[in-house]
Amino acid sequence: MTRWRYAAATDAGLVRETNQDTIYADDSLAVVADGMGGHAAGEIASALTVEAICRGFHTRSTVEGLLEAVETANREVLSDARANPERSGMGTTVILVGLTHDITGVVTPTMLHVGDSRAYQLRDGALRQLSADHSVAEEWVRMGRLTPEEALTHPRRHQLTRAIGVDDNVEIDVMSLRVQAGDRLLLCSDGLSNELGPERLAELASAAGSLDDAVLSLVSAARSAGGRDNISAILLEFEAANSPTRIINTTMSAAPPPMAPSAPSRPHPRFTWRVAAALVVLGAVVGGFFFIMHWYAYSTYYLGPDGRFIGIYEGQPSGVLWYKPRLVRPTTYFATHLLAPARQALRSTISEPSIASAQSYAHFLYGQWVSSQLLPVTSTTPSTTTTTLGSSSSTTIAPTTSLGPSSTTTTTTTTTSTTAG
Ligand code: MN
Repeated sequence: MTRWRYAAATDAGLVRETNQDTIYADDSLAVVADGMGGHAAGEIASALTVEAICRGFHTRSTVEGLLEAVETANREVLSDARANPERSGMGTTVILVGLTHDITGVVTPTMLHVGDSRAYQLRDGALRQLSADHSVAEEWVRMGRLTPEEALTHPRRHQLTRAIGVDDNVEIDVMSLRVQAGDRLLLCSDGLSNELGPERLAELASAAGSLDDAVLSLVSAARSAGGRDNISAILLEFEAANSPTRIINTTMSAAPPPMAPSAPSRPHPRFTWRVAAALVVLGAVVGGFFFIMHWYAYSTYYLGPDGRFIGIYEGQPSGVLWYKPRLVRPTTYFATHLLAPARQALRSTISEPSIASAQSYAHFLYGQWVSSQLLPVTSTTPSTTTTTLGSSSSTTIAPTTSLGPSSTTTTTTTTTSTTAG
């Protein structure tokens, strides 16, 4: 079960003649409305709004009941202004927290707001702003058009983008709050938050002691700081709560957003394009690396043993990374048909730019071996061999000549040739 204690205070401030703020608090609802419009119209707008919300919420204490109550307030302010032209142009902000019941009976503090009145949560002395101001400068901060620092002094920081009583459709921010026992909520009009910075608000709103004292010290501090606007503050302190803080922020309205919503979606395409560009660059680098490595690995040919033969291999003899050399053309040259230096050269692998040049190199090595097999015949013992050959030929001729006369009868041609020789 969620329960709170509450204290509330409002003050006209030091400059304004009237107080156009209207506040309300009870055991289950707290409302601050900051009215605007001349000739007492502002205070009528804020009073009509708070009255309609109280009526509506106490009839139906659900989130839908609260939303409907705010929409009813909007219609009533508009119709009052139409019925009373001297009040046309009046409007009001509203910030409220109500203890809403869901269908299962669970009670949750629900915050609704329109305009620049604020809600803060206080826990252990720390302050957190729950509501987002519906002012031109703050909307621009959320769109990235202004920095938060620029917004503090921007001329349009007080110009509202949403208010009750301006249009038939009103866009309402809805936030479901999960609070802990001991948490405080501060609801206030801009007359408080403009005069006191976050540190001062945190200090005064979370001060030990009674809630009434805390609320009064907030209002008097805002007066001391200038009191240029009506000052309103409601403090709620939760005595029991349903669960640790969880905040769901939703906007429920049929009305279109007040500003072109192109800015908030900008980070997404930028992010996607950056990732895509990075992937392309990465792909090119990796692809280029593999292309160069592959090209380098298979850019040359060399001769190597292929069983008993010499083979032509493509690649670097010891391989490059996982690119192992591969046999691209076997040859018919026996590996044993190589001279010792050539075999040495084969092992130290002389690279060739193409298969054809590798093949001609193999042929050259084989030719070297063939020559080495022939050279001893012609050069090491030239005279003896020729003599033997010569003598044997003369001996073979001799019998032929000797046989010749004996076989003269058989062939005349032979005899003729012999006689001619
Ligand atoms: Mn104000």
